[in-house]
Amino acid sequence: MARYTSADCRQCRREKCKLFLKGDRCYTDKCALVKRAKVPGVHADSRKKITEYGLQLREKQKTKRIYGLQEKQFHKYYEQAERMKGVTGTNMLILLEERLDNVVYRLGIGVSRSQARQFVNHGLITVNGKRVTIPSYQVKVGDVVSIKENKQEIELFVQLKQSKKPANLPKWLDFDPATLIGKVLQKPEREDIDMNIQEHMIVELYSK
Ligand code: SF4
Repeated sequence: MARYTSADCRQCRREKCKLFLKGDRCYTDKCALVKRAKVPGVHADSRKKITEYGLQLREKQKTKRIYGLQEKQFHKYYEQAERMKGVTGTNMLILLEERLDNVVYRLGIGVSRSQARQFVNHGLITVNGKRVTIPSYQVKVGDVVSIKENKQEIELFVQLKQSKKPANLPKWLDFDPATLIGKVLQKPEREDIDMNIQEHMIVELYSK
């Protein structure tokens, strides 16, 4: 599995925005960006004025970090999006949103995308009743995402069963905590992606 190994909060400080990589902690005063917003590194303050290329590069890095992808994987989404009808940047974000690890996170099963990815990798997640261990699996409208039956007694999921439906559940998904069943109701739309991403800058960077 390709993933970043550096400290999560350092990535947020580098991008100067919350990437929500550490679950509940990101919503509290313990968030490193709340406590210390400075860009990491001894020469951070002496960095020169950022160029247009630099801005595009940062936007791409930020988006890669949000979804926890390496360059090669991320670029493949751009290439796939470019071959599709419609706006390349929007297509790319929608493909990223439809990844199974992202869906597990958006349903509230995982508190962060990295935890959701672990759940998938460890075989805890099913799609339409079958175990799926590929985090990049693309969900489709009508898919039912759940937790493997014999894993539902894990304390984490017992607690989830007693919780309420997540308030920030996007309209393209549904989740019933009591049954631990999530459904893909429709394709995600651009407005469903609540992170501050300027995807046109990523397209401009890659199309140079
Ligand atoms: Fe980023 Fe979360 Fe760390 Fe805050 S707590 S800096 S949002 S990973």
